[in-house]
Amino acid sequence: MIDYTPLYAGLQHIPELRFWLAILPQQIAEALSPARWGELPEWQAVLEALPDVAPSSIETGSEVRIGSAADISPVQTEALETQLHKLHPWRKGPWKVFDTFIDTEWRSDWKWDRVAPHLDDLSNRLVLDVGCGSGYHCWRQYGAGARRVIGIDPSAKFVAQFYALKKYLGLDRPVDVLPLGIEALPENLRAFDTTLSMGVLYHRRSPMAHLRELKETLRPGGQLLLETLVIDGGLGECLVPEGRYAKMRNVWFFPSTATLESWLRKTGFTNVKTVDLDRTTLQEQRSTDWMRFESLVDFLDPEDHSKTIEGHPAPLRATLTATAP
Ligand code: SAH
Repeated sequence: MIDYTPLYAGLQHIPELRFWLAILPQQIAEALSPARWGELPEWQAVLEALPDVAPSSIETGSEVRIGSAADISPVQTEALETQLHKLHPWRKGPWKVFDTFIDTEWRSDWKWDRVAPHLDDLSNRLVLDVGCGSGYHCWRQYGAGARRVIGIDPSAKFVAQFYALKKYLGLDRPVDVLPLGIEALPENLRAFDTTLSMGVLYHRRSPMAHLRELKETLRPGGQLLLETLVIDGGLGECLVPEGRYAKMRNVWFFPSTATLESWLRKTGFTNVKTVDLDRTTLQEQRSTDWMRFESLVDFLDPEDHSKTIEGHPAPLRATLTATAP
C-alpha cells in the first residue's frame, strides 16, 4: 500500500517542511489518481497481493538487500516474483529481495559508487533526490546515514515499485518517494542539506530554471550533486538535439562540463566542481529479465559505438558538486 501517514507524521517535526503539509496530501492525491494513471488500480493490487514475509535483516549501506533465502518459502518466492514482474520495467537497481535478484536495466550501484565519494557526509542530513525513479539511491543515501530522505518522481509506476520494496525494507523508515515533479515543490523551500539531481537535467526544457529550482530546495551552505549527460567541448558549447537522442524524446540541453559549471555559477552556486566523467558502458545499461525493452546497445550506432543511432556523441555523464548560497 502507498501510505504517506508516516511521512506526514515525520514532517511535523521538521520546521522547514511542516507548512508543506497544508497542500501535500492534496498534491499526492491528484498525482496518484486513476484518471492520470489508468493502470494504477493494477499496481495497487500488486502491492496488496505481495506475500507477507519478515526479513531477518536489511542492508542499505553496501547494497540494497532484504533478508535472505532462508526467510522465504519457494511458494512465497513464486508469488513475490509474479507480483513484482507485473510492475515491469524495472530500470534502477539491483535489488536483492530474499531469494530473488531483481537485475534491473541499470547498475545504479555503479553510479552510486561514482557519486557517493563526492557527497558531504550524509550523517543526520535531510536529503532530497530529484527524479529518483524507484528510489534505489534514496535507500543508499539512508544507508549512508541520512536522517530523512525524500525522493520525488512524477512516474507513478516507479513510486509503486518503491512501495512494493518498502513493504519489506520497513514502512516506518524515514525514506519516501513522492509522485511529484520538481515543479510541484513549494517555492523557496531552503530546507534540504543535500539535494541530488541525477539523470534529470537533460529532460528539462529549461536547464537554468531547473538549476534555480534545485538551488531553492537547499538551505544556505547545502550541497547540490548534479549528474547529467554532457558532451566533450569547451565553455559555451552545448548540444540541443533537434530530434531524438539515443531514441529518447523529451531531451533538451547537453552542455559541456565547462558550460554546465558556468550555468551553476550564474545561478548563484559557489564551489562548483566537476568531480566525475564517465562514458556509459553496455554493462551498466542493458536489457534483462526484469527490463525486456530495448536498451543502450539498441540506442547506439551498430557500426560505431562512439555515436548514438542518430549520430550524436554516445552517452557521457558528468557529476558536479556545488554549494548553495
Ligand atoms: N536519478 C535516477 C533516475 C534517473 S532517470 C538515476 O540517476 O539513476 C530520470 C528520472 O527523472 C525519471 O524517473 C523521470 O520520471 C524523472 N523526471 C522526469 N521529469 C522530472 C521532473 N520534472 N521532476 C522530477 N523528476 C523528473
